[in-house]
Amino acid sequence: MELYIHLPFCKSKCRYCDFASYAGCEKHMTSYVEALLTEAETAARELPTREIETVFIGGGTPSLLPADLLELLLSGIHHTFELPRGIEFTTEANPGTLTMPWLETAVKYGVNRLSMGMQAFQPELLKTLGRIHSFDQVKESVNMARSTGISNISLDLMFGLPGQSIEHWRETLRAALSLQPQHLSCYGLIPEENTPLKADLDAGRLILPDEEDERIMYDEAIDLLSVNGYEQYEISNFARPGFACHHNLGYWRQIPYLGLGASASSMLPTTSGKAVYLRQTNPPGLQEYMQMVKSENWSRRETIAVTRDDAKFETMMLGLRTTQGISELAFDEMHGISLNACYGAKLADLEKRGLVCSQSGFWRLTRRGMDVQNAILVELMDE
Ligand code: SF4
Repeated sequence: MELYIHLPFCKSKCRYCDFASYAGCEKHMTSYVEALLTEAETAARELPTREIETVFIGGGTPSLLPADLLELLLSGIHHTFELPRGIEFTTEANPGTLTMPWLETAVKYGVNRLSMGMQAFQPELLKTLGRIHSFDQVKESVNMARSTGISNISLDLMFGLPGQSIEHWRETLRAALSLQPQHLSCYGLIPEENTPLKADLDAGRLILPDEEDERIMYDEAIDLLSVNGYEQYEISNFARPGFACHHNLGYWRQIPYLGLGASASSMLPTTSGKAVYLRQTNPPGLQEYMQMVKSENWSRRETIAVTRDDAKFETMMLGLRTTQGISELAFDEMHGISLNACYGAKLADLEKRGLVCSQSGFWRLTRRGMDVQNAILVELMDE
């Protein structure tokens, strides 16, 4: 079982962000942490095991939580669950909000991995995104984290930004590499509805790079990071050998997870009806979430029963994101039927077209296949 905890507080709202994250809500932090701990205790009573394999605290900006509240949260989580020593324990953080007391508290309770939003090197691009930090603050935060003993650092970067040239992107990659992170995530910008950035794009005040430039940026990342010793292990993720994120790998391999907090999702095994597992999602609003926990009205969660056929397709969809691909053996063990029986004809056809390949019992996308991943999934969905 993996554990995800959502902390939805941010100093200000980035211009592209449609996550469940709220600025100016610091006064609710204490009640929110109390609600998280209540939800944790209630959920743990229903779980087949309290042993946790990985923990990921995401946001929002977890580093905005005052150190004493972080201590309350982490000590409560240790009290509720069994967290074996040395498991991967990540928290997200944003540059410019990290403090030494926060980091020291995190380390005291086992945090050993920090994932930080750097996004871009150039001040003007950071401004377009509404980010509140500079590259110098990223550097300072990385140094602070290392000084407290967190040696596993991941940086998030974004490409395909309005006003971003290929040279800007190279400069961002080089700046990130100069900090020698163990892990890098490179995401293409997806302009989300109802964000200020999308409004600027729709009104023509900002212009995105064209598709060809965006593809070149992605290829540049793959090539430059590979030359610098980072292995691509998923469409957007690169790591030094041994530093792939176990929490995310677990998600792509359909390991059950418990999500706590506003908007958090869980995927829990079930034996009820035809479902293989239940996907439950908490309400996104702060008040809605806290009210649900207070009134113990768990029916306010959205619950989806995932059938065996849905679960098989999810194995394909999630497995093809990874460069290792889908294991024939794991598919058979998980679904009680062979991958070949379910998808053999379609995979053979995609292989003929140079979009997937098979090696040592694993099916994965070729580099050409990665460029058209969504179209491939649509074909598989029709199987
Ligand atoms: S810091 Fe992250 S979660 Fe917060 S507003 Fe920016 S993108 Fe959204």
